[in-house]
Amino acid sequence: MVERYNFTMPGKSHSYRLQAIILRHTDWGEADRLITLYSREEGKIRAVAKGVRKLRSRKSGHLEPFSEVNLLMARGRDLPIITQAEAINPFTSLREDITLLSYASYVAELIDRFLIEEEPNQEIFQLLIHTLTRLSQGAEAAFEARFFDLKFLDLIGFKPELMECVICREKIQPQDQFFSLDLGGAVCPNCNRTLRTGIPITIDALKYLRHLQRSSYPEARKAHINPSIQIEMESLLQRYYTHLLERKLNTPQFIRSIHQLQMKATQPEED
Ligand SMILES: [Zn+2]
Repeated sequence: MVERYNFTMPGKSHSYRLQAIILRHTDWGEADRLITLYSREEGKIRAVAKGVRKLRSRKSGHLEPFSEVNLLMARGRDLPIITQAEAINPFTSLREDITLLSYASYVAELIDRFLIEEEPNQEIFQLLIHTLTRLSQGAEAAFEARFFDLKFLDLIGFKPELMECVICREKIQPQDQFFSLDLGGAVCPNCNRTLRTGIPITIDALKYLRHLQRSSYPEARKAHINPSIQIEMESLLQRYYTHLLERKLNTPQFIRSIHQLQMKATQPEED
């Protein structure tokens, strides 16, 4: 049975439907919530859910972060109003498991921070749904995040150049390289002698980034990425995002602190 709940009665005004993922919410006035969502039809939008904080949690749960929902919307004076929400997939585990929560929050933050409102993109919508689905099904979270990173950068027009040097356009040779945040790609050791601002990157990390960039999900999944490469790729991508956004993301620190807590918990205490 499909659970459905009317938040406010749909009026006579024009109403319309959206299929969406809830990205986040904040309190709005006395009883309302301001919901940021990514929809198939309109891309990222903000909408108001009226009276939702007075409802029992089971009902308001339809509008919790990472839920996939069908929404009935009405045009409001300023922001659109959510009049009805129907859960397609609540992705409950993404809110109950702290590690999954941190990774799902990371993906939601990237969507929220990079995309402007009302620009739908079917491929980004699919990538978001697939990533949340795989995280909820127990796929390796760090791998999912890196796969998302490379595909997302491509879809938003910031695909890093990893095949040839962005300065001399020579093919990248199998040796350690540099990465220019400004130029958005690999810089060969020779060119970096003049540029000097390239970040060192090992050839292994560069190869895995390429692999994720070029491969379909099943292909990408075949590679085993060792932890030190994983850390190197993550750190480079975070610096690239910070450069593009001109400020840091919040969620990578959240992921790291959860990871450190878990490492502590599994290490035997010294006495
Ligand atoms: Zn070069």
